Amino acid sequence: MGMSAAAGIELIISQEAESGAPLCPHGPTLLFAKVNRKEHEARRFYACAACRDRKDCNFFQWEDEKVSVARQLAREEFNRSRQPPFTHKRYVERYQKFVSLPLANRIFCTDCQLLLLPEEWDQHTSHHRLGDVSLHQLKRPSHLLLPLENKKTNAQYLFADRTCQFLLDLIISMGFRRVLCIGTPRLHELIRVRQSQKKEPVIKSQLLDIDFRYSQFYSEEEFCHYNMFNHYFFGGKSASEAFQTFLCQDNGESVIMVTDPPFGGLVEALAHSFKKIVGIWKTSQNKADDEELPIFWIFPYFFEPRILQCFPTFSMLDYQVDYDNHALYKHGNSGRKQSPVRIFTNLPPKDIILPAEEGYKFCLLCQRYISSANRHCEICQACTSKVSKLLPEPGWQAMETLSDLQQMCKTILGSL
Ligand code: SAH
Ligand code: ZN
Repeated sequence: MGMSAAAGIELIISQEAESGAPLCPHGPTLLFAKVNRKEHEARRFYACAACRDRKDCNFFQWEDEKVSVARQLAREEFNRSRQPPFTHKRYVERYQKFVSLPLANRIFCTDCQLLLLPEEWDQHTSHHRLGDVSLHQLKRPSHLLLPLENKKTNAQYLFADRTCQFLLDLIISMGFRRVLCIGTPRLHELIRVRQSQKKEPVIKSQLLDIDFRYSQFYSEEEFCHYNMFNHYFFGGKSASEAFQTFLCQDNGESVIMVTDPPFGGLVEALAHSFKKIVGIWKTSQNKADDEELPIFWIFPYFFEPRILQCFPTFSMLDYQVDYDNHALYKHGNSGRKQSPVRIFTNLPPKDIILPAEEGYKFCLLCQRYISSANRHCEICQACTSKVSKLLPEPGWQAMETLSDLQQMCKTILGSL
């Protein structure tokens, strides 16, 4: 949609908006209002929850618009036509056939991003194809698939190995044994690769992501085609049950949710979905009212106020999250550009040990690990520095206010 609160468009979250929401190919739409108009003039409309670019999904409906039966039927037909070419079950069957083929017959069509079966080769002869797809490659789909860099919708920025390994080591050392990966295909993949190496302790992972290409590689227990902006399972009841089973098994013990949503995303819509997940987790046995589902929410630091507004018990860690395919977001040492992306969590910061070899140290006064550039401020009584020395490029120098920073990131990401 290219719209967010920053552009004068406000998201309306209410029971009413939710129950009345029409469906686009990406599940229930969200209700928005233009906020720059006078209150009584503001006209509200439904638009796609997943796509912030009209090119990706052009769904639009005024809140009070009457939709004829014919148009409703046409819409349903259109929504069906926009679903993946195969069901998840079919993808799983295809995968089983694919791995049973001799190496020389295992071909991946890079144009279609599809593992091909021999009877389909004819249709792809003019496409770019990759042959000899090994088991090693099949275990690492995030390296095989082309990242969907389409900035406004998928914004697929994959973790650098260092960051991904740090996250997994941290998760294991903190005693977690199940990871709900929401929009973190690379972490899911690392956990599964580790599992195939039969390492102890056993860590299980489930991936929820809108990128249905992963259905080709993972079973229905391991992956759900999912929209995190409206908590929608494309695979229907069986998919949402697979999710619930994973989340709530072992009385909901030792599970952590890790999410790295597209940064252009609406914080409030994400928080609303995450609260639903927390609610489902709470239905698992023996949960006290004040118990919280442990969460790592990975997001740029300048969203701190908005995340804290939605989740007051969260705090932001100093750890800089690095990406592979994002030229601007590389780790700071050696003069490279530094990442503005951080981890928000409801776990006690003092328990989260950040790597000394990357320059993090413990602040006794704050009782948490901080970056080496951070100094304890006597006035704030905290290690508050987030921006100073963080973004040393000349272009960043003038960035003083939150909106300046957002403007800058908007330019870079094209996605706020
Ligand atoms: N750093 C992560 C990837 C983060 S990129 C990693 O390396 O694993 C954002 C991820 O969220 C992508 O995998 C993208 O496909 C997914 N995503 C984007 N929009 C989504 C949506 N509406 N619902 C669920 N997942 C979404
Ligand atoms: Zn849509």
